[in-house]
Amino acid sequence: MDYYQKKQLNRFMDKFSMPSKESCWEWDASKDSYGYGTFWYKGCSERAHRVSYMTFVGPIPDGMCVLHRCDNTSCVNPDHLLLGTQADNVHDMDSKQRRNTGARLKGGEIWLANRLRHANITISMIAKMFRVSRRTIRRLTDVQRITQTIFMEN
Ligand SMILES: [Zn+2]
Repeated sequence: MDYYQKKQLNRFMDKFSMPSKESCWEWDASKDSYGYGTFWYKGCSERAHRVSYMTFVGPIPDGMCVLHRCDNTSCVNPDHLLLGTQADNVHDMDSKQRRNTGARLKGGEIWLANRLRHANITISMIAKMFRVSRRTIRRLTDVQRITQTIFMEN
């Protein structure tokens, strides 16, 4: 690593918080309108999670995108990143933009989502169906599981 690269790495590491190895590493510096961190890299403005991938994992093959497993666009934890195609990315962005990640389901939808969950339909299928994030469905089914346990215990 030459002087320039070392300096750049220091500048990069300065711009996000790293509470633990497993958690999301939140980008604290500038972000674009999609919530992706941006970083000045080799003379261009580059998305921070891509810089993270290139720094900690390796080069990004031509035509491939770096996607978030964690659905958190401002996260730069390399363990939460994976390579995908442009189509995966467009699909990902699509489902995120139709409703924001905090969108809640209404009563009937919650009931249906839980029924589907119990029928072993995957979380990502259900999320796609209701156009909400996987996290919303996961949280929902967790709540359901917790309330069921409480009811069963009483
Ligand atoms: Zn993350």
